[in-house]
Amino acid sequence: MSTALLQGKFAVITGAASKRGLGKATAKLFADHGATVAILDLDEAAAIAAAADLGPQHVGMACNVTDLEGATRTMQALIAKWGQIDILVNNAGITQPLKIMDIAPGNYDAVLDVNLRGTLYCSQAVIPHMRERKQGKIVNMSSVSAQRGGGIFGGPHYSAAKAGVLGLTKAMARELAPDNVRVNAICPGFIATDITGGLLTDDMRVTINAGIPMGRAGTAEDVAGCALFLASDLSSYVTGSEVDVNGGSLIH
Ligand code: NAD
Repeated sequence: MSTALLQGKFAVITGAASKRGLGKATAKLFADHGATVAILDLDEAAAIAAAADLGPQHVGMACNVTDLEGATRTMQALIAKWGQIDILVNNAGITQPLKIMDIAPGNYDAVLDVNLRGTLYCSQAVIPHMRERKQGKIVNMSSVSAQRGGGIFGGPHYSAAKAGVLGLTKAMARELAPDNVRVNAICPGFIATDITGGLLTDDMRVTINAGIPMGRAGTAEDVAGCALFLASDLSSYVTGSEVDVNGGSLIH
């Protein structure tokens, strides 16, 4: 058994009900390291079931990250229950494989809202509490798509949303550093999860793998390990960074 890195810590992870997703794997690793975890997702039953998988002390709640009032209410309820929130992982995200001219206003709204607005709103919902306690860690899920201009699955609006997450991460890191709140982003490469919604073809998979020096897709656990590093004191002097978890698919 390795040393528990999050003993006594309370963590909130958005979009973490998806069974094979990055949020769920992160929630599990955090729980294995002693944290009490809240899994937030659109569907309450799925969030509750995902939390129950981790153990009885963990919490599942419905939360749409694009709704500022709802997100604030959810965080307030968790602070009332736990007394503290130490870690927020802004993981909820959606993507769509569209070309530039096929992005309709509704596509733009959906993708920008969940990925970027949701990251802002959930952060705003915990920042006053973290500032008051003079401690906190926020981990935002960006993407290699932001850094290399897509080319994997998501369209340009997804690249733009995830690039927005990087800018937001860095600006928040700068503003919150004096209050000892660290903010970092993870840029996963191609990870085998259900985010592609069955739209990923075998041909696309072969092409993608050919562009990965490590020769394989990442796993959700590969990303969870990085999230644990950024959420724990191992990264105590790291803020405003973007950490690549991409098997070498973008080396820069
Ligand atoms: P996933 O589809 O398995 O999980 C995403 C979860 O977000 C789902 O449970 C979904 O219900 C939830 N969600 C969607 N809209 C929401 C909303 N408005 N409010 C709350 N929850 C909402 O996806 P994943 O692959 O685990 O992706 C997790 C994060 O990692 C996303 O931000 C994604 O963009 C990012 N990412 C994934 C990959 C990859 O290859 N899988 C690569 C780079 C970045």
